[in-house]
Amino acid sequence: MKTLQSVTSCLSDYDPDALPVATAQAVIRDLAEPLAASETVPLRAALGRILAQAVLAPLNVPGTDNAAMDGYAFDGAALTAHGTITLTCVGTSSAGHPYPDTVAPGACVRIMTGAMIPTGCDTVVVQELVQRGATSSADTAATIRFEASDVRAGANLRHAGEDLPLGALALPAGRIVQAADLGLLASLGIAEVSVRRPVRVAFFSTGDELRSLGEPLEPGCVYDSNRYTLYGMLQRLGVEAIDLGVVRDEPAALEAALRAACAQADAVVTTGGVSVGDADHTRALMAQLGEVTFWKVAMRPGRPFAFGRLGTDGNNALFFGLPGNPVAVMISFYTFVRDALLAMGGALPQPAPVLRAQTALALRKRPGRSEFLRGVAQREADGSWQVTPTGAQGSGILSSMSQANCLIVLGHDQGDVAAGEPVDVMLFDGLI
Ligand code: AMP
Ligand code: MG
Repeated sequence: MKTLQSVTSCLSDYDPDALPVATAQAVIRDLAEPLAASETVPLRAALGRILAQAVLAPLNVPGTDNAAMDGYAFDGAALTAHGTITLTCVGTSSAGHPYPDTVAPGACVRIMTGAMIPTGCDTVVVQELVQRGATSSADTAATIRFEASDVRAGANLRHAGEDLPLGALALPAGRIVQAADLGLLASLGIAEVSVRRPVRVAFFSTGDELRSLGEPLEPGCVYDSNRYTLYGMLQRLGVEAIDLGVVRDEPAALEAALRAACAQADAVVTTGGVSVGDADHTRALMAQLGEVTFWKVAMRPGRPFAFGRLGTDGNNALFFGLPGNPVAVMISFYTFVRDALLAMGGALPQPAPVLRAQTALALRKRPGRSEFLRGVAQREADGSWQVTPTGAQGSGILSSMSQANCLIVLGHDQGDVAAGEPVDVMLFDGLI
């Protein structure tokens, strides 16, 4: 297991008091190692879970050559002739009911989309190009006629294995199973899959002013909202969220909570004072419980941030001490915690989708730190994307986060942006 010390000592630009976002992300990525445990679940229960092993196709999909269109199957060698071709219809192949015999040259079989191509045939002429014998219905046409120049040998066929050939990689290990994957696995006849155990994440809020829902709100107190946004973000990531409530700003209470969290979780996320580490007792406590470093990250919002590993009673857990301000909590979670939890869960990297959009307003930006603004992105009539920052951007103002559908991401080196210039936009839909 890597130590924080061993990772940070290799970095030339490591300054915990002015840490670029990218450096902090790199340190965290290095320490977030995948958990080993996996379990086997029935196919439907795999939705949103992370595959523990690659899935190889145990059979060809489709299993046989079959028709891509409704029409008539025949031997394409007939097309070497010019002019009108006449074939005798000897039977029918429909989906689930293949034609059992070999089709001789000069004969054809009425065939439906998805039906197996009979032996002796390699081409389908679509029914719209065919003239049927005068008295016959489509299914019983005694003869059909069509122009050779209208049809290409081998046309309108789906080949065995063209979707997935036997032995091919159907899904890689680390894949987060999507709706299409459930169908893909079903098409391969796979009824259960091996998935990673969900990462267990214990979280709590710190602060003497915090009240839980249902408690009376004395003057100067606030309801604890962070535990709810955190719960939402953790739930969306598919981890097992363990809510440890509100912890008072007292060293003994904090120690007990951190020990309890570490004992039952793979990762611990806290919000509030603990991350600042100004109080000597917080630093001392962290040093006792593990290896935790206090960073001032060059970003806004979300500057103070604690990260490391806690170890108690033989169990250890990655520790993320987020700031207290509700918006800073969300932005630091997306920036630092999300990817680490996905990596611990064994997922392949899942970079959030980034759009380029024109900012409707001029944006003030100081080079030397990353800034995240809440915005509303929308597609204009001409197809371009435009983004407007949502009102007040204070890091405690959750209503503007709730109104936003994206974050405008202004990189470390970027300066002021004029109205109409393009900026990077991270859609919440891709994050959660
Ligand atoms: P702190 O980082 O503890 O100094 O908190 C910064 C600000 O965020 C203060 O105004 C706190 O009251 C507020 N805050 C901290 N934790 C929470 C929470 N769980 N829910 C709502 N507001 C919080
Ligand atoms: Mg506090």
